[in-house]
Amino acid sequence: MRIVLVQPNAGAIRAADAMTPLALGVLSAQTPAGHQVTLVDERVEPVPARLEADLVGITTQTYTARRAYQLADGFRRRGLRVVMGGHHASLLPDEAAAHADAVVIGDAEGVWPRVVSDAGAGRLRPRYQAATPPALQGVRIDRSLFEGKGYLRWPLVQFGRGCRHACDFCSIHALHGSGYRHRPVDETVAELAALPGRSAFFVDDNLFADPVAALALLAALPAAGKRWGAQLSIDALADESTVDLLAAAGCGAVLLGLESFDPESLREMHKSWNRTGPSYGQCIARLRARGIMVYGTFVFGYDHDGPEAIEEALAFALAQRLFVANFNPLTPTPGTPLYQRLRAEGRLLGDPWWLDPGFRYGSAQFVPARMTAVQLAEGVYRARRRFYGWRSIAWRALDRQANTRSLGSTALYLGANLVSRREIRRKQGRTLGG
Ligand code: SF4
Repeated sequence: MRIVLVQPNAGAIRAADAMTPLALGVLSAQTPAGHQVTLVDERVEPVPARLEADLVGITTQTYTARRAYQLADGFRRRGLRVVMGGHHASLLPDEAAAHADAVVIGDAEGVWPRVVSDAGAGRLRPRYQAATPPALQGVRIDRSLFEGKGYLRWPLVQFGRGCRHACDFCSIHALHGSGYRHRPVDETVAELAALPGRSAFFVDDNLFADPVAALALLAALPAAGKRWGAQLSIDALADESTVDLLAAAGCGAVLLGLESFDPESLREMHKSWNRTGPSYGQCIARLRARGIMVYGTFVFGYDHDGPEAIEEALAFALAQRLFVANFNPLTPTPGTPLYQRLRAEGRLLGDPWWLDPGFRYGSAQFVPARMTAVQLAEGVYRARRRFYGWRSIAWRALDRQANTRSLGSTALYLGANLVSRREIRRKQGRTLGG
């Protein structure tokens, strides 16, 4: 069969910051021999008007769901068979099923070969789901799928899935349950070592989801000889010896979900643990002292947040000369406790907002308590523009401990900031879908 895997774009404009769709590389590697697999990534290339395929596999995230359904409906009108999977289809399989011949719920490992063989035999079933979450030993990624597509040059790698925390706005528990699975350390390190170039990024939602496993990984990572980045929960930095291990293992950048300074907002998001250890400033100083750049993310719109919460976060991000930062309106992602609560309280603006033709990127999708939805959206957009203003980029470049400590880090600092500066303006106010 000719199998085409499709990564939809969220909106109509091409992305300048697209990274390789790792999950589709896993599907390609899992496809039984004798089939031809190709990738169409709409973020970097157009979807052919007359796609030729015996089976189309479309991955979905909440922001791409509307476009995924448009594409799927078009393919099916032309008689192509469509299988849908990914985060959004796993969270809302009934919604996805209206646009697909089959829906894969959860991790595709373990069920994809069955999907392919059923499609080949003309007997696709409506749902596929592994009886238990598959173990991650032996997971391979077919990266030949990504060649020549112009992705950002940082290759991606994954160690584990799941998280021991349960933040109110995060869909990770709905996707992976409360358990955590990780790949064998030796397989992860060998894969990283074999990647081209000197840098890579771990796509794990929290590399320290299991501290024991993470420390074992850090101990082995120097053998890979790479400079890498990862997302970590800030509690990983409470013990300074862990920060030493990060640096020794080649860590060059970390993404920290700082979220808020307000203890009440952190309590609301079930993230009070964010501020029980050393302060945000102390954690950042520990990282910077070892040459590790810090990418901070903040979220606004909890019931204790007024417009001043956005100003406070912006001032902190500038004072700390963060490498990059994300300022986000709280997003009620389906499957999260946040979504259920706002829905029960009748505070959602458009439900489902991800299918709403009136959706505008950067807008708030609910009614906040201490400001209007417009104040929230405008405050966040203002913070983004100020953080990526020329004066801010120049000011943050003065951090010679981390942001501009070498030619390589300076290039990364400038590249990341210039792409972010351009993308926030290009994406603001865009609709979802084609
Ligand atoms: S620490 Fe990160 S990955 Fe874990 S639940 Fe919270 S937001 Fe999600």
